[in-house]
Amino acid sequence: MKIAVPKESAAGERRVALVPEVVSRLTKAGFAVAVEAGAGTRASFPDAQYAEAGADVVSDASSLYSGADAVVRVQRPSDDELAAIPDGAVLIAFLQPLTDPDGVDRLSRRGVTGFAMEAIPRITRAQPMDALSSQATVAGYKAVLIAAERLPRFFPMLTTAAGTIAPAKVLVLGAGVAGLQAIATARRLGAVVSGFDVRPAVREQVESLGAAFLDLGIIGEESEGGYARELSAAELERQQEELEKRIPDYDVVVTTALVPGRPAPKLIPASAVEAMRPGSVIVDLAAETGGNCELTSPGEEVERSEVRIVGLTNLPSTMPFHASQLYARNVFALLTHLAPEGELKLDFEDEITAGACVTRREEAAA
Ligand code: NAD
Repeated sequence: MKIAVPKESAAGERRVALVPEVVSRLTKAGFAVAVEAGAGTRASFPDAQYAEAGADVVSDASSLYSGADAVVRVQRPSDDELAAIPDGAVLIAFLQPLTDPDGVDRLSRRGVTGFAMEAIPRITRAQPMDALSSQATVAGYKAVLIAAERLPRFFPMLTTAAGTIAPAKVLVLGAGVAGLQAIATARRLGAVVSGFDVRPAVREQVESLGAAFLDLGIIGEESEGGYARELSAAELERQQEELEKRIPDYDVVVTTALVPGRPAPKLIPASAVEAMRPGSVIVDLAAETGGNCELTSPGEEVERSEVRIVGLTNLPSTMPFHASQLYARNVFALLTHLAPEGELKLDFEDEITAGACVTRREEAAA
């Protein structure tokens, strides 16, 4: 079975779907792997390491795709890239099934069997394939580093000959995978950290990291897979009001609140930003789906009322080495699930295979 790894073409994307360590595991297991020249360069994986791991490093699209049974990517393919995928091949990538139904239709018309990394079911057996979690870990960590770098204050408490410096106060809104990583990172840097989430189970997780749970008196529900249910308009309004009172107390707010397939909930109204101290920082990890803060400008960093609001998107791509390494391990786990003995054997009775598949070519079924 041949696996093709194209160079990512999306603007700003520095990750790669397979790293040499994982290519080596695949080639040892009998898979053939073709890697487009330069695919790993921006993630600090040179072509020579792929060749050493047993991959065929190729520079033209026809050698890359010719005879490929599976194409593995980070981002969904462009129209040209989609046209180059062989008929009936399997495509694995972040295919955005909930936010890009047209893209999924294009795959379907092309006869590609698409597996979306976002759609991997959240069951214990599928944890090694959970790329949403692995990339959220990177984003949560990086969000705090960005905040620490932008903040005109120290994070830790310092006792110096010139007197004592008070620690920074950090609030993390949304304490799922990214939020918990943000809390842990901010704690390691010495900040005093609080966290909030609408899912009741989270309080204990926040406290176990040495942070305080900010009680806003709002308790939501957890739906299947551990995701939050969307709050009603009245609940969201109450949450905004409560946050408006509490937020001026913090130097940094990292927001990560998401509800799958829905625009990001607006947690921080403009009035709350205005009430923050000058020099405070908001890092909005939900910027891609509109942002948790009313004043976030997705893809940009802006200053409003002397508060820095960071709405940069795709933070995992800014740490491409480890983001790619984790993603590649997730892809490896899915590939070996779909091809347990070295050849594709798609069992659509299986919860993982059926759950992650977003377009299906009937002939591909086992
Ligand atoms: P996510 O990225 O969809 O959302 C981030 C967080 O935002 C969630 O914790 C959510 O509860 C929270 N949120 C939503 N609306 C909010 C609001 N109005 N105010 C404050 N917070 C709000 O979620 P995620 O991080 O991908 O995952 C959430 C949880 O799923 C994890 O913490 C974990 O418990 C569970 N999970 C399970 C598995 C598994 O079983 N295999 C794998 C990964 C995650």
